[in-house]
Amino acid sequence: MKDFSTILVAVDFSDSSDNAFQMALALAEKFSAQLIILHVINEPIDLRGFYVPHISFEKLEEEIEQGAKKLMESFCRQHIGAFENHESLIVPGLPYEEIIKQASICGADLIVLGTHGRAGLDHVLFGSTAEKVVRKSSLPVLTVRLEEET
Ligand code: AMP
Repeated sequence: MKDFSTILVAVDFSDSSDNAFQMALALAEKFSAQLIILHVINEPIDLRGFYVPHISFEKLEEEIEQGAKKLMESFCRQHIGAFENHESLIVPGLPYEEIIKQASICGADLIVLGTHGRAGLDHVLFGSTAEKVVRKSSLPVLTVRLEEET
């Protein structure tokens, strides 16, 4: 079997993605791979300066980015342990598009994500991000389901 050298794990700070992260970390340790931890600031196009003046939108965007950065730092502190070969990445956009795009930019050979996210059970088997990544990614995708998810 081919070894994985770069694993991208997509986190939305939900229980489901925390669980997927544990699997991604275990795989990165096993294969001595680099772990890229990606969070996408979910940003619908209509929010980009359409309803609010440009200047207040920029301020809002800056605060959202700062908040996401703090969440990511705290997530890494709590979850990464002694594993050093990792990088975190925060980008704005549509989660499924960015997960696929950033995985390709990073040269990842595996994408890991939870089956559901913060939005809860909006689809029967998969949440919408998970479903779209599985359907559209040309890279292997590992989805990890939390025990208590139905
Ligand atoms: P969903 O399909 O939205 O219920 O989420 C399924 C999984 O996709 C989550 O457990 C995360 O692994 C990933 N995901 C969802 N939204 C994001 C996001 N904004 N940034 C990074 N990963 C995400």
